[in-house]
Amino acid sequence: MTPTNFDAYAFSRQPGYDEQATRAAFAQAVPLRTVVVYCYDPRAVGIPGAVAREFGDEFPGEVVLDDDGNKAASTANVFEVVVAGGRAVDALRSVTVAQHLFGIENVVVVHHSHCGATSFTADGIVAAYQREQGVDISGLYPEESVCISDYESSLRHDVALLRDSAGTPRNVNLYGYFYDIDDESLTKVVENRGVSGQGAAE
Ligand SMILES: [Zn+2]
Repeated sequence: MTPTNFDAYAFSRQPGYDEQATRAAFAQAVPLRTVVVYCYDPRAVGIPGAVAREFGDEFPGEVVLDDDGNKAASTANVFEVVVAGGRAVDALRSVTVAQHLFGIENVVVVHHSHCGATSFTADGIVAAYQREQGVDISGLYPEESVCISDYESSLRHDVALLRDSAGTPRNVNLYGYFYDIDDESLTKVVENRGVSGQGAAE
């Protein structure tokens, strides 16, 4: 196998590839329950573990080897989406794909104390880009998802954004938590339980 034969590593490039069978095998191998969306700040690294404890999930779990010693699966119930500020706008596609491949029960958005996303404003970053890069990014992202000006508002906004996304199944439970990076505690701010056929906000 040459280093340029990348097709050998792609499921859809294998002889006899069957999309439905492949999807079923993925769902069988990965016991995903909870997607956690949080900030890429290295101080926030404890968040997925704290969420796993809160929800009775396993993280990081163990990698499962197949008979050939290849890494074939994992026991983790929690998948991470790590983005600036933990804002949900950057997680929508990942939630959709996680549902499609593995099925999910919970999406947990976590914003943390002393986050860099609280240190600037939407207007401030637009002005700085105009000045320093000579480009207008004012229409690039939804203004209310650019930074965090108020934790409760940002968590409520992100849970609503996820609930309103067609890529989020109606039965999935959505949560917004505040995480204190110093004492590593989680505080629930928003809970929006999934209901078959509806998505009533709390
Ligand atoms: Zn942060």
